[in-house]
Amino acid sequence: MPVTVAEGAGFCFGVQRAVEGIFDLLGREHRRVVTLGPLIHNSQIAKALAERGVETVEAVPERGFDGVVVLRSHGVPLHCHLQLAERGIDSLDLTCPFVRRIHDAVREGSAQGRLVLIVGHADHPEVVGICSFARAHEVFASPEELAAFTQQNPGVEQRPVLLVAQTTFDVEQWRRCKNFVEKVYTNAQISDTICNATENRQRQAAALAADSDAMLVVGARHSSNTNRLYELCRQHCARVLLVESASEIPAGFLQPGDKVGITAGASTPAYVIKEAADKCQTSTRP
Ligand code: SF4
Repeated sequence: MPVTVAEGAGFCFGVQRAVEGIFDLLGREHRRVVTLGPLIHNSQIAKALAERGVETVEAVPERGFDGVVVLRSHGVPLHCHLQLAERGIDSLDLTCPFVRRIHDAVREGSAQGRLVLIVGHADHPEVVGICSFARAHEVFASPEELAAFTQQNPGVEQRPVLLVAQTTFDVEQWRRCKNFVEKVYTNAQISDTICNATENRQRQAAALAADSDAMLVVGARHSSNTNRLYELCRQHCARVLLVESASEIPAGFLQPGDKVGITAGASTPAYVIKEAADKCQTSTRP
């Protein structure tokens, strides 16, 4: 079989739940339905929702809004939950339970007076949401940033801290952050919040890339977990391409007889992966 799709490629549990949840709502709701920020990072799903009349809004609507606000799988900041309640607006919370677990841990750690150390990308919506549940927090995109912060703030290593990670963060970088905190901090609570789906997907993609002549990563260019898969595959395979759909695979990228591996981000629908696999089959036929 010259084309192999990595196990675990595509929708994760949280994204599947969010997509099913919103289409289920559309089947029974006749008022306006809006999502607070994009529901998931995928243009095909965004288009399908737009065709059903779903709009994306960047802020909680004003009081009197007659419709339902859907909260995405990455979660939204605390003030959005408060505004929805204050304004009496109906909502459907599709925050992934694994992300909600981080919100709860951060809230609890903060109540205990812990400084929350978040390993992730500060501008990622999930991290923005996590930060909002903390009374005091710092965000680090790498173990080096965490070490520099510790060095620049003498005594911080003796403060009570809680360490958490963005669910889709790089597994190896997270391990290094965890090891550093275990070694240096004297009163640290560590909550291992990397999602299993992420860890498995990264491991399977790396193994497949190492065994392929060319590797295709299918997913949104602005998706953090898709970009991470792309970087990881590049470490194991010389020919790697990130595409949002089969139509973006350029002629000449694949040669007849190539052994091709395919992985996909957590927000990529199964039919998009299948179209890419079919195109690869055709291109590699001797
Ligand atoms: S990657 Fe994990 S935490 Fe994030 S939405 Fe998917 S299942 Fe939930």
